[in-house]
Amino acid sequence: MADKRDYYEVLGVPKTATQDEIKKAYRKLAKQYHPDMNPGDAQAEAKFKEASEAYGVLSDETKRKQYDQFGHAAFEQGGAGGAGGFNYQDMNVDDILRGFGFGDIFSDLFGGGFGGGTSSRSRAQSYNGPTKGRNVGTNVRISFEEAVFGCEKNVEINYKEECANCHATGAKPGTSPETCTTCGGNGQVVRNRQSILGMMREVSTCPDCGGSGKVIKDKCPECRGTGYKTKKKKISVTIPAGIDSGQSIRISGMGEPGTNGGSRGDLFVEVMVGRHPIFARDGLNLYSTASITFTEAALGGDVKIKTIDGDVLFPIKAGTQTDTRIRLKGKGVPSLRDKSKRGDQYTTLVVKVPEKMNAKQKEALKAFDSVMYPKK
Ligand SMILES: [Zn+2]
Ligand SMILES: [Zn+2]
Repeated sequence: MADKRDYYEVLGVPKTATQDEIKKAYRKLAKQYHPDMNPGDAQAEAKFKEASEAYGVLSDETKRKQYDQFGHAAFEQGGAGGAGGFNYQDMNVDDILRGFGFGDIFSDLFGGGFGGGTSSRSRAQSYNGPTKGRNVGTNVRISFEEAVFGCEKNVEINYKEECANCHATGAKPGTSPETCTTCGGNGQVVRNRQSILGMMREVSTCPDCGGSGKVIKDKCPECRGTGYKTKKKKISVTIPAGIDSGQSIRISGMGEPGTNGGSRGDLFVEVMVGRHPIFARDGLNLYSTASITFTEAALGGDVKIKTIDGDVLFPIKAGTQTDTRIRLKGKGVPSLRDKSKRGDQYTTLVVKVPEKMNAKQKEALKAFDSVMYPKK
C-alpha cells in the first residue's frame, strides 16, 4: 500500500474541494476510463478503479475525515478506521459500480444506457471467444434551441471495417498468419523469477504477437497487416429534446467490429450545447432578464416577455418593483425521461429609467412629480 497515490491527487482536486467538485472530478475520470469505453484496456481499468476508490472515500464525509487524519492507514486492516481494506484493484468493476450506487452518476452520463456493458465485459475476458468490439466516442455541437427541442444531426465518424482483401486476417491473400513461435500460439509467455518470496511465476502478454498467438510474415497491402480498414462514415443521430451539455447518446453497433464472431461495439456521441444570448439553463429551468418601462411597472398590465417558444404577454401587477422575478410555468426545457414534463422559465424584471428625454417628456415628468410628491 506504500505506493498508493493520494486520493485528492487521483481525482485532481484540492483538499478543500466541495462534494460537488469531488463528484464532478470523478465523473470526468470515470467517463474517460470507464471499462465500457475501453474494453480490454487493463490500464484504463486500473485508472477507473483507482478513481472509484478515491471517490468512494472522499464522497463519504466520515471516511473522508478518517482519510484526512490518517491517510491510507485509516482503511488498512486494523487501522484507525477498522473498516478493513479498500483495495479496489482486486475488485470486479461491476461490483464497484453496484456497491456504490453510482447509478445516478452514470445514468445521466449516458442516458441510462450504461449497464448493458456488463455482459460485453465478461465476454471480453474470455480469451478466444466471441468478443464485442470496442466502444468509440465522438462529439457533436448543437445550438441551445436544438438541445431544448431536439434535432437530427449528421455526424462523421471513423468506421472501422474488416479488410475485404484479406478477410481480416491481415495476411497477404494466398498466405495465412503463422503460429507465433515465441509463445507457441498461446499469446502469453510465462517466466520464472527469483524474488525474496521465493520463485515467482510471471505471466505476461507475448511481446512478439501482442497476445494474438499469430504472426504475419507477408502483410496484406490493403490494410498493412492490421486486418481492418477505417473509412469516414456519415450517420444521422437523433438528439432527444431536453439533452444537456456533456450527456451522450449511445448508438449500438456503430463502434469497432468484434472478434471471433462478437458483435460490434457501440458509439457514444457526446453533445456539446452552445450558449444562448438571452437564456441561461440550469437543469430543466431557464433564466433570463427582461426590461420593462417605468410606466409599465407603475401601472401594471401585460408586458411582452421572450420565451424559447416565442414572445408571450405576461400580466404584471401595478407597482411592480425592479428585480422582481416572475415564473412562466412550463416554458423551460422538456424532461429527457418524461416528455410530458417541462421546466419553468424565471425572468427577472428590470425597470428601465429613460436615459434621454426631450423637453416635452421632461415637462410631463415634472408635472407628474409635482402631483406625486406635492410636499417636496
Ligand atoms: Zn487486409
Ligand atoms: Zn506470441
